[in-house]
Amino acid sequence: MVTVPVLHLLTSPTSTGEASTGEVPAGEVPAELTGLAPIPADAARQIVSTQSVLYRILTDPLTGTVLDETAQTYTIPANVRRTVTAKHKQCAAPGCTRTALRCQADHILPFNHLLPTQGGLTVPENLQPLCQPCH
Ligand SMILES: [Zn+2]
Repeated sequence: MVTVPVLHLLTSPTSTGEASTGEVPAGEVPAELTGLAPIPADAARQIVSTQSVLYRILTDPLTGTVLDETAQTYTIPANVRRTVTAKHKQCAAPGCTRTALRCQADHILPFNHLLPTQGGLTVPENLQPLCQPCH
């Protein structure tokens, strides 16, 4: 999974007629390949250009923090699950290093089936990835 600010994708090396330096302008969040160090914007553009499906996850442009997508259903929508996976890199259990991509999404505060709005919401802050053995 590659997490890349949309502005990196909208800025192509040829759009200004100048060659890209591949450097991320100061203040911008670098692109990231899950499980690895940040990658240059040009590398992220190359990886993304080979994909036929892209998912949008809203993040704070200054901090890169993934923003909330609310859900008041027990079933975790695919977009919320992707947000949790992007926010956490691995299983949340102490000492477990399994990648979040292979984990289940777990409600930290249990979902309230009688009063869904009264806690245990299906929002990224209340979800964590847990691999099946840890879950
Ligand atoms: Zn685990």
